[in-house]
Amino acid sequence: MLIVKKFGGTSVADKERMFNVANRCIEEYKKGNDVVVVLSAMGKYTDELISKARDMDERPPKREMDMLLTIGEQMSVSLMAMAMHTLGVPAISLNAFQVTMHTTSSHQNARLKRIDTERIRRELDARRIVIVTGFQGVDKYDDYTTLGRGGSDTTAVALAAALHADACEIYTDVDGVYTADPRKVPTARKLKEITYDEMLDLATSGAGVLHNRSVEMAKKYGVPLVVRSSLNNSEGTVVKEVVSVERMLISGVALDTDAVRIAVLGLRDVPGVAFKVFDTLAKKNINVDVILQSIGRSGTKDISFTVNKDDLEDAVATLEEHKERLGFKELHSERGIAKLSIVGSGMLSNPGVAAKMFESLYNEGVNINMISTSEIRITVLISEKDGVRAMNAVHDAFGLAD
Ligand code: ADP
Ligand code: ASP
Ligand code: MG
Repeated sequence: MLIVKKFGGTSVADKERMFNVANRCIEEYKKGNDVVVVLSAMGKYTDELISKARDMDERPPKREMDMLLTIGEQMSVSLMAMAMHTLGVPAISLNAFQVTMHTTSSHQNARLKRIDTERIRRELDARRIVIVTGFQGVDKYDDYTTLGRGGSDTTAVALAAALHADACEIYTDVDGVYTADPRKVPTARKLKEITYDEMLDLATSGAGVLHNRSVEMAKKYGVPLVVRSSLNNSEGTVVKEVVSVERMLISGVALDTDAVRIAVLGLRDVPGVAFKVFDTLAKKNINVDVILQSIGRSGTKDISFTVNKDDLEDAVATLEEHKERLGFKELHSERGIAKLSIVGSGMLSNPGVAAKMFESLYNEGVNINMISTSEIRITVLISEKDGVRAMNAVHDAFGLAD
């Protein structure tokens, strides 16, 4: 069997945890399996590197950020190879260049395009454990890129797909995927199984337990994923196409506090305006979420939408730059908001789901600013200060509590 095992930052935060991971991998190797390990940077090291950068430059060039951030993963893989060496097991660390992991050139948010597998195969054939840097890639100019925060999950899934692995295991600091972030909702329950689509919507809505692109890729290539703890042996959660367990109305609740709202006011009320606004942002690689268009004063319209807070400055600068062509009067941005989402394929056949969510928010006295829905997801924009309280209320109202 070929197994890809990914360990996140907390799981390799210090020497003791590194050895714990090394032992888990060696156990698998000694059963005769081929083992590919994907690691994140140790603990909060990526955050530390980001603050070093900000200290140097308020808006650091994205290319240089990627040069810097790739250090984190390179440190963990080499130290892990040393840990395994100490334990007498042959292992080799490889970074994105050595593999090679080819990506687009969109620094800080690159997409994996292709992975060369020859080097990894050769090392596995020589009976080595192969330890690969998560999160990083290389573009066509031979520059380092990174896949976006939390991107090591995507590295692992992409490697599992490219190597036709028999299993892809994501080890983290919780026992699996829960009905809500167990650190914010004490009554959250662990799910035995969840579908790719539900997991994708949860991940995109702020459930950081998996990088959303990793789920997208797992679905595309049919890679079954297991999310489990690096600290114990409990069973974890399987992410797959169809689940066999009994369906609940909704399978999870997620809170995203990384969003900011931008309002573009006084646009002309003619066809093509929304297209121009969002096309301008898309060309800058800025992702737009919950959108609301409303009637403004005297034949104008207003458009509000959310973007990730890392994109706020870019989005505002881009819109201001095109102010004349887009023809708006004012631009506002607002922090301190949160997106609360419920996800579940059970809502497909149940018309009362939205009403139930809104009722539980009403009971908590939480005001809703914007609403957006998809087939299996309802998202409301609320004030950040209400976030965790609202999340708990909605979670419990749907009977998800343990
Ligand atoms: P890693 O460093 O292992 O990648 P992350 O911090 O990226 O770990 O992801 C694990 C965290 O995701 C957990 O500690 C938990 O707080 C958070 N989380 C958010 N939503 C969920 C959820 N629905 N189920 C489990 N964990 C969740
Ligand atoms: N080290 C990166 C981050 O902190 C990637 C990851 O952990 O998945 O975002
Ligand atoms: Mg993660």
